[in-house]
Amino acid sequence: MKAMILKENCIVAENPSQFCHPDQPHKNYKEYYYKKNGNNNTNNSNNNLKLKSDPLELVEIPIPDIGFNDILIKVLACGVCRTELDQIEGRIVPPKLPIILGHQPVGIVIKIGKNVNKFKIGDFAGATWIFSSCGKCQFCKAGLENLCNEFKATGCHENGGYAEYMVINQSFAHKIPKKIINSKNNSKNSDKKDGKSDNHTNIDKLINIAPYMCSGVVGYRSLKLTEMENRKTLGLYGFGSAHHLVLQMANYLYPDSKKFVFTRNKKEQELALRLGANWVGNIKNKPPEKLDCAIDTTPVWKSVIFALENLQKGGRLVLNLIRKENIDKDFLLNLNYEKHLWLEKEIKSTANVTIKDGEEFLNLAAKIKIKPEITKYKLEDANKAIIDLKSGKSAGSKVIVM
Ligand SMILES: [Zn+2]
Ligand SMILES: [Zn+2]
Repeated sequence: MKAMILKENCIVAENPSQFCHPDQPHKNYKEYYYKKNGNNNTNNSNNNLKLKSDPLELVEIPIPDIGFNDILIKVLACGVCRTELDQIEGRIVPPKLPIILGHQPVGIVIKIGKNVNKFKIGDFAGATWIFSSCGKCQFCKAGLENLCNEFKATGCHENGGYAEYMVINQSFAHKIPKKIINSKNNSKNSDKKDGKSDNHTNIDKLINIAPYMCSGVVGYRSLKLTEMENRKTLGLYGFGSAHHLVLQMANYLYPDSKKFVFTRNKKEQELALRLGANWVGNIKNKPPEKLDCAIDTTPVWKSVIFALENLQKGGRLVLNLIRKENIDKDFLLNLNYEKHLWLEKEIKSTANVTIKDGEEFLNLAAKIKIKPEITKYKLEDANKAIIDLKSGKSAGSKVIVM
């Protein structure tokens, strides 16, 4: 099977002008990078990182075997997440290399282990960031597999979805609800009687919802963690793949709430307004009203200070990302207890996802229209998708289509 693998950590070059030699980082860029990541990064080989425009390599490898409780998914598409950039650049170090990245795969079940009862061959299935957990600890027993010490992540601890096939234990995979996928016969292409066109339409729909598997599911978890309620105000810092879906969820769940979006990217501001945001501005701006709840997905620290300043008394800020970058960490020295924390303001992080988050979100998505705005890339063009993600080209989600 074809797969795009990460063999070694490197710095992703946003454009060729950053090169002075094909393999060597531009001097200034390297300084910028180390300032950004700190010299004591968990990956101690960071000082030798090369600047590359092709961090992932296309390889041909055998289709993996399955265990008794596993399913083999023929991957049709896989969403691209900012976490992949963190993994490539060493802010999150994959426990083993090489690794196939990607934790938003969707596809068709083509083989099942002999104990599998949740899936049958031909089902549409997907996986999220959770690949496995121990199932025995206090957290797992409480349905908080996301906090398990043995939490393993898809495309990080084990191979993920930047490949034509992927194996996962049935308990951690999700069936894609029929309601999300099934085409109605009013589609332009479904006038033939052989059912083939319907099938194409269904596959198209499946590809389009790949971003549900992380942007959707983790976005849903972070929205839950804000303790949002109808009529409370919501602030979204950053408007990438996750927040463009969170805004759509919030419109349905909290119809009378005002939603404010903070991003400097003009394309993202336009998309936010089109999706129903009541106001857009950049992260330094003051929204028209105080925020009862806020979520920050930006890699910088400034947004934390600005969001805390804009919080209502007793408000909560949820950070939805695995790592912040260190480039503006000094900005935290502006933290003023009275202005930013006093009067019961709270900060909480979102860590990973649970099996229940996946189920709840997919059921919600089956009820309402949550439409990802996607840009498609071929598997062999995954590097381009990563570079476009880093440089902020195009709003919405990026999806690799096999
Ligand atoms: Zn993700
Ligand atoms: Zn556990």
